[in-house]
Amino acid sequence: MSERIFNFSAGPAILPVEVLEEARESLLNFQGTGIGIMEHSHRGKAFSGVLAQTIADCRKVAQIPDDYQVLFMQGGASSQFFTIPMNLLSSDDTADYLVTGSWSKKAVAQVKRFGTAHKAASSEDRNFCYIPTETNYSEAPKYVHMTSNNTIFGTQFATEPSVPHGVPLICDASSDIFSRPLDIRKYGMVYAGAQKNLGPSGVTLVIVRNDLVEQANTEIPEMLQYRTFAENDSCYNTPPTFGIFIMGLVFQWILKNGGLEEMGRSNEKKASILYDYLKTSELFSATADSDSQSMMNVTFVTGNELTDKKFIEAATAAGFDGLKGHRSVGGMRASIYNAFPEEGVVELVRFMKDFESKA
Ligand code: PMP
Repeated sequence: MSERIFNFSAGPAILPVEVLEEARESLLNFQGTGIGIMEHSHRGKAFSGVLAQTIADCRKVAQIPDDYQVLFMQGGASSQFFTIPMNLLSSDDTADYLVTGSWSKKAVAQVKRFGTAHKAASSEDRNFCYIPTETNYSEAPKYVHMTSNNTIFGTQFATEPSVPHGVPLICDASSDIFSRPLDIRKYGMVYAGAQKNLGPSGVTLVIVRNDLVEQANTEIPEMLQYRTFAENDSCYNTPPTFGIFIMGLVFQWILKNGGLEEMGRSNEKKASILYDYLKTSELFSATADSDSQSMMNVTFVTGNELTDKKFIEAATAAGFDGLKGHRSVGGMRASIYNAFPEEGVVELVRFMKDFESKA
C-alpha cells in the first residue's frame, strides 16, 4: 500500500485501508459463497446478513435506541433537503433553519414547495466563518434543521444548539457523522451522505425517531416516504448493496478502534496539530473563527491568491492531494476525516513550515 498518497479530499474521501483490503477480497468471492458481494441478490441470505449486521453495528457505534430507525436511502444528502419537508410539513407549517453555509442554504431553498422556511440564525454576514450563538425561533416550528459541520467553510458546532422544547432537531451530519460521540436522544433525525466518514457515495444513512416516521405525510410517492424504508428494512426496492456493505465494514473498523470516544480524541488531536501551527504561522492563517473551527475540514489561506496557488501546486507535487479549497471560497482546505492518519497531518505541517521558510 506504499503507493497510496495523503488524500485530503473533502469527499468522496479517504477510507481505512483495512476496509478497502477486505472489500477487495469480497469483490470476487464473498465469505466463500463463490459470488462477489456486488453480485448477491439483495433478498438473498448473504446480503440479508450484511444488512442486519450493518444496522446492528451502526446501533452499537452510536448507542442508538430501539425507537430510532436506521435507514439506507439514495439520492445523497441533497435529496434529504426536500425529503424532510416533504414528509414533515404541510403547506401552512414552518420549519426553522440554522444557516451556517452553502449546504444549509441549499436545504432552505427546498422547503418552499412544501411549507415555509424560517431562518432562525445565519452566519452569512461574515461569509459563514463562524457558528452563530443567537437564535430567533419562529412561534411553532415543526422542526429545527442544522448542519453540524460546514464542509466548505470549515466550521462546526461544538455542541447541539438549544431548540424550543419538544421541537425535533434534524441534523445534516454529512461531513462529521461518527467523528465524535453522538447523543442521538438530542435529535429527531440525523442524516449523512456516506462519502466522507462512512463509505462510498451512493448511500445515505438516515437515523430517525419513530414518531417522525409515523407522523409523516402519506400522500407522497412511496420511495420518498421514510415509512417505506422503515417498514421494508430499506429493501422496498434494490438498495445500494455495495455501499451498505462498505459502511458495515467502516462501522466494524470504528468499533475495533475504540468507538466514537476514540474517533473524537484522535480527530481533536489531528486538527489541533494543524490549528496550532496556523496560529503561529506568519504565512498561513485559518479562515474560521477559533471558537467555531471544524475538526474535519481545516480551511486556511495565505492572503494572496497566487501564493495559495503555488502552495497547492507544490503540495500536490509532494504527495499531498486534494488541498484546494472549494471553488466558492478559494484558499486551502485539509479534510481530515476519521480514516485520515495523524502522520499525514504531521507531514503536512512539516511541509507547510518548509514552504513558509522559503516564501
Ligand atoms: N451536506 C453537507 C454538509 C455536505 O458536505 C454535502 C456534500 N459535500 C452535502 C450535504 C451534499 O451531499 P450529496 O452530494 O451526498 O448530496
